[in-house]
Amino acid sequence: MATQIRPQPGILDIALYQGGQSEIEGQAEPLKLSSNENPFGPSPAAVAAMQAVLGQAHRYPSTDHAALRAAIAEVHGLDADRVICGVGSDEIIHFLCQAYAGPGDEVLYTTHGFGMYRISALAAGATPIVAPERDRMVDVDALLEMATDKTRLVFIANPANPTATMIPMADLARLAEGLPETCLLILDGAYAEFAEGYDGGKSLVETRETVVMTRTFSKAYGLGGLRVGYGYAPQEIVDVLNRIRGPFNLSGIALAGAEAAVRDTDWVAECVRVNAEERARLTGGLRQMGIACDDSHANFVLARFADEAEAVAADEHLKTQGIIVRHPRSYGLPECLRITVGRPEDNTRVLDALGSFKGAA
Ligand code: PMP
Repeated sequence: MATQIRPQPGILDIALYQGGQSEIEGQAEPLKLSSNENPFGPSPAAVAAMQAVLGQAHRYPSTDHAALRAAIAEVHGLDADRVICGVGSDEIIHFLCQAYAGPGDEVLYTTHGFGMYRISALAAGATPIVAPERDRMVDVDALLEMATDKTRLVFIANPANPTATMIPMADLARLAEGLPETCLLILDGAYAEFAEGYDGGKSLVETRETVVMTRTFSKAYGLGGLRVGYGYAPQEIVDVLNRIRGPFNLSGIALAGAEAAVRDTDWVAECVRVNAEERARLTGGLRQMGIACDDSHANFVLARFADEAEAVAADEHLKTQGIIVRHPRSYGLPECLRITVGRPEDNTRVLDALGSFKGAA
């Protein structure tokens, strides 16, 4: 009986998503720099807002997220009707694939594209297509070359994870312009707050009918555990995505926390400011000890070692010092370690640990 029960085509091609490690055996409180979380945590106003609604947990939450959408729209200058909220931006990625890609359709992204693009494409029965990058950067020409009349969705994270690189607005505009009109361009702005002067692609969403922006509360807002993200898209697309969204996809606690977080603009601005300072110090320190790393536009740096063996040894050494970073092997970068920018004292620990590793190596 059981052998005749089969999942839909594509599902068994999905490898389980590997999140950043959070424990080291024998280390009670490791320094976790493996998931690009905000080391300062959420805004105290967000914590208070969540506590204030705990007693209402017997009530179903808002189905249309009107208050959160209004707050997002007010703070970021968006049209609230064109905002859709999800369980992390992961869920928005999932909705997009479910609604717009199916068997015979292609979903295009680049070599080091975020893992959910492949998972959601396969879950929808579509075919994931991977375009090459150039020097760990999204290559617009390669994407334009590989887009076909079967391409339904093109995903770009800008800044990208795990490379931390970023392509300029003019390239994004050229991509939006050059793609077939039958295909949506999704600008994944999970790290957009950390990139100076970047609007996450909002201006392209405003001017084109085929561009969608996704954003999250998981990174700069320090609410990864709350699972709230959103998409900003043309009205017609938001209306489609809302048809497949579960009516109560976000809890009342999540809605309250995210709304207070988005309104606490000082908190996020300060976190972004410290991140920029510390990112520069971490990058400079790594380079000084002979570890290559591209300029980062996010809240992490990608440290490039001589080869995979050295990256593995550095990873092991960091673990002995109680520090967990991410070895982005599954992203095809086995010679690298992705290190989240922590608090100043955390980054000093990382630099000291890698300094002793290089000294001993
Ligand atoms: N996009 C990118 C590029 C990411 O790195 C992540 C989180 N790792 C996400 C989207 C999804 O984040 P969330 O679901 O927490 O919003």
